[in-house]
Parts: sequence; structure tokens; C-alpha cells
Amino acid sequence: MWNCFPSQNKSKFIIVAYQASVSAFIPKREQMLFFAAFLVPQTYGNMGYKFTIKETPKNILQYMRASTNNFCKAFSGLLFPKSCLICGAKFIDQRKILFCDCCKENVSFIKPPYCSKCGKPFLHAAGDNHLCSVCLKSTWHFSKAQGMLIYKEPVTKVIHNFKYNRSTSCLSTFSALKNALPELDEISDFDWIIPVPLHMKRLKQRGFNQAQVLASCFFPTEKHKINPHILERTSDTPLQTNLSGKDRRRNLRKAFSIRNGADIKRKKILLVDDVFTTGTTLNECAQTLRKAGAKDVQALTLARVED
Ligand SMILES: [Zn+2]
Ligand SMILES: [Zn+2]
Repeated sequence: MWNCFPSQNKSKFIIVAYQASVSAFIPKREQMLFFAAFLVPQTYGNMGYKFTIKETPKNILQYMRASTNNFCKAFSGLLFPKSCLICGAKFIDQRKILFCDCCKENVSFIKPPYCSKCGKPFLHAAGDNHLCSVCLKSTWHFSKAQGMLIYKEPVTKVIHNFKYNRSTSCLSTFSALKNALPELDEISDFDWIIPVPLHMKRLKQRGFNQAQVLASCFFPTEKHKINPHILERTSDTPLQTNLSGKDRRRNLRKAFSIRNGADIKRKKILLVDDVFTTGTTLNECAQTLRKAGAKDVQALTLARVED
């Protein structure tokens, strides 16, 4: 039956089938370029398509690559649909932040006004950012700490899955969140981005440092600045979760040190961690870095406790 087709009709059939299959996923202009670059000059004249290709071959290749990428993503999305990180509902669309509309309403994003030093959100206040009551009294060794989400359900569940169940499906969401929050725009111009280190023993247990994964997630274009080798956790402190602020400080005293030969004199440094709870860990890291000559230390965390 296939052989009954004249050869020109065969290519027309293939092209139409190809067009139909990609048209659902790829923007029209990219489709045309991809199609043209693929088939010209064999069918260009025969099929009577009128393309005006002003792009250089290099651009066409880039379009082809982008189109193929989109197509592969859409195809894998069909085979393995993404789902809500919180309730597991499957998505039919291609979204980056994997919260369904219903669950998203329960996720609290940190928005101004918040404490200009420690990032504590003022949930029932209006106006500009200002210092909270803690920061009016105490001194931090970092100049500023910012968080993206308030650390409470359902965010705790997502972070727990990431840290302890090694679920990586959340990473595209974390990366997209960093870009979606306009208040975080000021985070730039750092010499080093340093993930808060785990002690070697805990690193072996967990298999990865969540802060390092987050740093790569937040700054995919600045991976050359991410340096996990500057700061070292020298004592394996017990888990901080159930300790009070005072006990946490005692627990972490001299827990960090600078690796020999690390170049941090007069450097601007951004610390990255998963959660800001009392700020003790970040403060100890910042103190260690400042003592060793860092010019400025700021901190960015995925989440932050409410108070
Ligand atoms: Zn959901
Ligand atoms: Zn504060």
C-alpha cells in the first residue's frame, strides 16, 4: 500500500505526520526553522513552502537544538508526567514550580516587609523592611540573611523528602523559586558561594550535602563561584533540631574552620543552606569567615522559620 504512493506524496506524508506530532509541543517559529533546516533543500522546492530564513546556519543549529530539547522534554513529560511535590497530583502542562494550584495556596512565600538583617517575615505588618526585635539587640556576623519560604507544612514535607528520602524531583522547583522571587534580586556580585558544610561523617551517612545541591540549583550559571572546599565542619555536632538557641550556640562553638590556603581575604561571600532556624549555624560560619578576613558575608536559605 505504501509503495502505491508516488515518492513526492510519501515525503509529503512524512512531513505532515512530523509536523502534526511536533506542533503540540514546539512554538510555531521554531517548528518552521527546525523543519526547514532538516529538509531543505530536498523538499523545499517541491513542497512549495515559502520560508524566509535570515538566520545564519549557527542560529538554525541553535534553534534545532532548542526545538529538539523542547520536544524531548514534552515527550518525556507525556511518558513520565510530573506531579505536585505536596499532594502528588499529575500535571498535564509543563510547569517549573511543581505545586498544584490548591497546594500552592498553603505554601507561604516570604514577602516584604521582613527583617532587613535576619530575614524574619513580619506577617501582619506593612511598610518597608526594618530590624526585628532580636536584631535590634543582638549582633550577627553576617550582614544579611534571606529565605524564600516559611518553614512550616507543607514546605517541611518537601524539604524532608529532599534531605532524607533523596527525592530530586523538587530541584527544578527550588531553582525556579529563586528566579521567581523578585525580592531576591539583590543577591549578586559575590566572589564565593559557600554551601554550609556537613561533617564528613554525616556526609557519608547522607551521601550528599543538601546545601551544596541547593547552591547549584540557585546559581546554575555561577557554578564556578560555588566552593565547598573553603569552609570545613571540624566537629561532628549532635543534631541541632531539639536544642534551644543557647544550647545550639554552645554546641556549634568552633565547629567550623577554614581549610588551609583558602583565599577569602577581602572576599564577598554568600552562604547557602536549606533552613534558617535560630541562625546559629549560619552565624558560626559567618564568624569563622569574617575572622579569616572575609569582607562581607550574607546568607540565603530555601526556607526560614516564622519567628
Ligand atoms: Zn498539590
Ligand atoms: Zn531580624
